[in-house]
Amino acid sequence: MYQKPNDRLKGQTAIVTGANSGIGEAVAMALGKDGANVVVNYVSNPESAEEVAHNICQHELCGTGIAIKADVSKEEAVQAMFRQTIDQFGTVDICVANAGIQRDFALHEMPLQEWQLVLDVNLTGQFLCAREAIREFLRRGLKEDVSCSMGKIIHMSSVHEIIPWAGHANYAASKGAVVMLMQTIAQEYGPQKIRANSIAPGAIQTPINKDAWETPEALEKLHELIPYKRIGVPSDIGAAAAWLASDESDYINGTTIFVDGAMTCYPGFTTNG
Ligand code: NAD
Repeated sequence: MYQKPNDRLKGQTAIVTGANSGIGEAVAMALGKDGANVVVNYVSNPESAEEVAHNICQHELCGTGIAIKADVSKEEAVQAMFRQTIDQFGTVDICVANAGIQRDFALHEMPLQEWQLVLDVNLTGQFLCAREAIREFLRRGLKEDVSCSMGKIIHMSSVHEIIPWAGHANYAASKGAVVMLMQTIAQEYGPQKIRANSIAPGAIQTPINKDAWETPEALEKLHELIPYKRIGVPSDIGAAAAWLASDESDYINGTTIFVDGAMTCYPGFTTNG
């Protein structure tokens, strides 16, 4: 889906974690097209991060992209990424905590380290990024000529923040916990005009869920779960993130936007249950 460049994020700086692939890449591109300077965070594959950063700067209305390496589950790495961003662009206005992983096991076979790894990246990583973002928002203060909000945090959640998922207890637990993290931030820092929201994608065509869409049979089976009868594309999420980051959504705080083709609308009941 082509998004026309505009300047609703001009003069703002965004960090997007896990932005060298899939949804994070599309979010980075969408924010850049709206004029934001964008940090394309990555943990592996620097070439793809450099490519995304380069692609952001292809239009005169777009912001500048730079790639910064950091493992979001490591406190020092996240702090260093924020320091580098502030050195380069002066501040951070938007933080999209997108990086996430799956490690799938039946619960009775799930090794502790695979449980922990998913929680470390998908939950602790979101906490660490949100915490550094809030520290910077509070340090900088409100600049009403830039945005009517002091800062925006967007958590990448999942429909599995509300849909249980057999064989994926670590992932579902991490996304369920993100709801409370996000809503608590919204409640705690709303008075300072900091907004926190989540995006809950349904099935989006990215490397994380290749098995679900790479053959026509798998795709047909997936469509049974989606009343809108198409798999999502990363730019569906990019468009939602750019709007959520902008002042157009200023009164949206502490909520999850489901971008899922109605996957959460009980598709099993379509034919009378
Ligand atoms: P993806 O695998 O393409 O992207 C995940 C990104 O996170 C990659 O760039 C990866 O390198 C990065 N990452 C992993 N561990 C990291 C770490 N420790 N530090 C920094 N970066 C790290 O998958 P995606 O589908 O684009 O997933 C992005 C987010 O969207 C995830 O949080 C995922 O849970 C969520 N999500 C995806 C779908 C979907 O259908 N694709 C649905 C719901 C939610």
